[in-house]
Amino acid sequence: MNIHEYQAKEVLKKYGVPVPRGIVATTPDEAEAAAVSLGTPVVVVKAQIHAGGRGKGGGVKVVKSPAEAKQAAAGILGKKLVTHQTGPEGKEVLKVYVEEGCDIARELYLGMVIDRATQSVTLMASTEGGMEIEEVAAKTPEKILKQAVDPAAGFMPFHARKLAYGLGLADDAAKNAQKFIASLYKAFVECDASLAEINPLVVTKSGEVLALDAKMNFDNNALYRHKDLEALRDVTEEDPRELEASKFDLSYITLSGNIGCMVNGAGLAMGTMDIIKHYGAEPANFLDVGGGASAEQVTNAFRLILSDPKVEAVLVNIFGGIMRCDVIAEGVIAAAKAVEIKVPLVVRLQGTNVEIGRKMLAESGLPIITAETMSEAAEKVVAAAKKAA
Ligand code: ADP
Ligand code: MG
Repeated sequence: MNIHEYQAKEVLKKYGVPVPRGIVATTPDEAEAAAVSLGTPVVVVKAQIHAGGRGKGGGVKVVKSPAEAKQAAAGILGKKLVTHQTGPEGKEVLKVYVEEGCDIARELYLGMVIDRATQSVTLMASTEGGMEIEEVAAKTPEKILKQAVDPAAGFMPFHARKLAYGLGLADDAAKNAQKFIASLYKAFVECDASLAEINPLVVTKSGEVLALDAKMNFDNNALYRHKDLEALRDVTEEDPRELEASKFDLSYITLSGNIGCMVNGAGLAMGTMDIIKHYGAEPANFLDVGGGASAEQVTNAFRLILSDPKVEAVLVNIFGGIMRCDVIAEGVIAAAKAVEIKVPLVVRLQGTNVEIGRKMLAESGLPIITAETMSEAAEKVVAAAKKAA
């Protein structure tokens, strides 16, 4: 689960991570009042969406009076903000964060992730703050300092020291940075975060160290023990199809390709996406209908896949183990009757009750392309999508 910058800053503040003062606003008038109450000569009006790159996209405005803050908020609120992370369709801005202006001496980068390779929380720091860290990693990987924290021994002061001095900090700034890193680590672990990213981490002219931006992601499987964090969920930021899928207990993720996939089992779903790519197309989604899906769930899954306008062909790839092939066939037929399928449909069934399933499909009169093997199915669906496009 992802949260907004202003929410992440509230969470971090509780752990003693220094953040600038700020107030969230949903109207230009509220933004003006927020600027008055902050009382600083410079305030920054920041669009609150679950995507980075807001600065470059025009979603962060530095202003010098409450009147200007109102004007800046009016220019951002209700508009679609397009950044390199939102995709070309952009994201509508419903809230802005009005924050005190900060006297920046240096912009650094600090991140924490769970690194599967080292099986530990890994701290990352860089002098290249304010930039896209992915770009730094690709072009100048030597500028990213990494420090893994042994989960058994836990966080040690030397972890923070190495990073602080590695960033070229000295005196008060170095001390403050070490405190900052230790507090962020505590927040990360106690909140069951999967990512914390401070970009930029700012050093002020007086040696203070502050989080000027904050991004936090949490492990969904641990949210049950963080009701306060769960309450920060903003469903307006979530993919509507993914939200719909969660209501039906379907594991569905929207992707950018044109081949809709309906598969049972996460492993088979991954394999299906791979083989679609192998034959030269891209999957439009990941979908695992689960081991014991009902015909109704299959119908819902179908509706979901077909509601994506990018989908030019659908591949149903089912291995009937717990899930029976006749149930899938029933779902496919019901869905085809309920939803008008305008795109080619390739079905590959194997396993329990496969003969019954195939017979049902053949007798349904639906224009279904059948396949025996996975590669045959993938080849056929890619060809069908090309023809349909
Ligand atoms: P994003 O990463 O989405 O572009 P940031 O919060 O990192 O948004 O803001 C972009 C830039 O705006 C920062 O790198 C910083 O230079 C400037 N900025 C953001 N907040 C403040 C602030 N409170 N005071 C001064 N400058 C700020
Ligand atoms: Mg940023």
